[in-house]
Amino acid sequence: MEIESIGIVGAGQMGNGIAHVCALAGYDVVMSDVSEEALKAAVALVDANMERQVTRGKITAEERAAAMARIKTTLHLPEVGPTDLIIEAATERETVKQAIFEDLLPHLKPTTILTSNTSSISITRLASRTDRPEKFMGFHFMNPVPVMQLVELIRGIATDEPTFKACKSVVDRLGKTAATAEDFPAFIVNRILMPMINEAVYTLYEGVGNVTSIDMAMKLGTNHPMGPLELADFIGLDTCLAIMNVLHDGLADTKYRPCPLLTKYVEAGWLGRKTERGFYDYRGETPVPTR
Ligand code: NAD
Repeated sequence: MEIESIGIVGAGQMGNGIAHVCALAGYDVVMSDVSEEALKAAVALVDANMERQVTRGKITAEERAAAMARIKTTLHLPEVGPTDLIIEAATERETVKQAIFEDLLPHLKPTTILTSNTSSISITRLASRTDRPEKFMGFHFMNPVPVMQLVELIRGIATDEPTFKACKSVVDRLGKTAATAEDFPAFIVNRILMPMINEAVYTLYEGVGNVTSIDMAMKLGTNHPMGPLELADFIGLDTCLAIMNVLHDGLADTKYRPCPLLTKYVEAGWLGRKTERGFYDYRGETPVPTR
């Protein structure tokens, strides 16, 4: 099946990046959110990011204008229904995602493929609550979407081959590379990355190092471009905690228990860059460690 239009549900950090790359690749994009503010901010951010690409000579001003004209936004979820492929990128909470798919079902074309950008929730379980588990997949972009090369494609137990091929062809047209993963908690990237971030928070919690020494140690000692705490702030501490909980619940192994300090930051609403405070405080000119 040829995909020409893409619906995106959730206009947060990931939704805006997904809209950006899809529109540049020539897809018609309909992006929805429950928050008008989020939609406005997402469009402004895509516009600013594309402008930077024009300045750097990566795209032309005409390509930017054409791509921006392909992005429509709506507060009305049913308007996303008649697209060829829907990528759900709303808050990492299973009840939120289930409600979105339930509300979408009456408005879909029979051929519409449903996907979720979830970092960790079972694709098979999300799919089982829809009328089309065979046309359901995990479509997992990395953050920031316009920069990162990888997309994890996750087959649920029922996903059929035409659905996989259609999603793979979208990844190719976006100029990205697909890694296929089986549907087990947190798939590949986050199964490995999140326990490392959680361990960095334990290292902080137990006083082995402070924010600066932990991030510096991992950057210079393992050649990671960002330290784990800086990366956690970038991803969003609520998302990190949600993924650790999925690993802990789904694999029933205490090695995945979320660090109490991570929970405390989330309880404080210190979610990282998106709230201007996390392991670093971003409200001034340069980030300042909060511990
Ligand atoms: P975010 O908090 O930045 O954005 C979530 C958006 O969803 C918000 O704008 C919110 O208003 C919207 N939303 C909430 N309920 C909704 C509903 N019922 N209908 C429509 N919109 C709704 O979160 P994010 O970082 O963009 O993450 C979104 C998804 O992408 C999550 O599933 C997350 O696990 C996944 N993901 C995140 C990252 C990352 O690094 N942040 C990377 C890969 C995948």
